[in-house]
Amino acid sequence: MNLRVGSGFDVHAFGDGEGLPVGGVWIPHDRGVLAHSDGDVLVHALCDALLGAMGLGDIGEHFPPNDDRWKGAAGKTLLREVMDKLESADYRLVNADLTVIAQRPRIGPHKQAIKETLCALLGVDSSQLNVKATTTEKLGFTGRGEGIAAMAQVLVERTVE
Ligand code: MG
Repeated sequence: MNLRVGSGFDVHAFGDGEGLPVGGVWIPHDRGVLAHSDGDVLVHALCDALLGAMGLGDIGEHFPPNDDRWKGAAGKTLLREVMDKLESADYRLVNADLTVIAQRPRIGPHKQAIKETLCALLGVDSSQLNVKATTTEKLGFTGRGEGIAAMAQVLVERTVE
């Protein structure tokens, strides 16, 4: 069997700022995110899903928060590193299904831009990537507008026997 699944989940709290990156797209907001890197919650969940599918641990092991190399690192940079690992391990992404969980800012209007940006970064066709957005009906930390969360599921396929 050459197919493997992976899942990822990430959360960032809001702090001072005027917007945040989600899936490589800058989303204006009256808050920013608290993070060691750029705090792109969706890219982080996606990286974790890809690492998980390869059996390579998690994003914290590969990009340690106390390593200055990754301080303020763009999500795009981390994703490129993870895709390099995927290719060198002879895997290709079959599909990814992504969910952003936020009350505010509203993610829906940005879904298409996020999808296009991530497809370009991953080098996949739009049929291979799905982006969903949901609120939590004003419940919990996302519902109170204290932060943002994201989930990612991926399927990868080994390209060699
Ligand atoms: Mg994170």
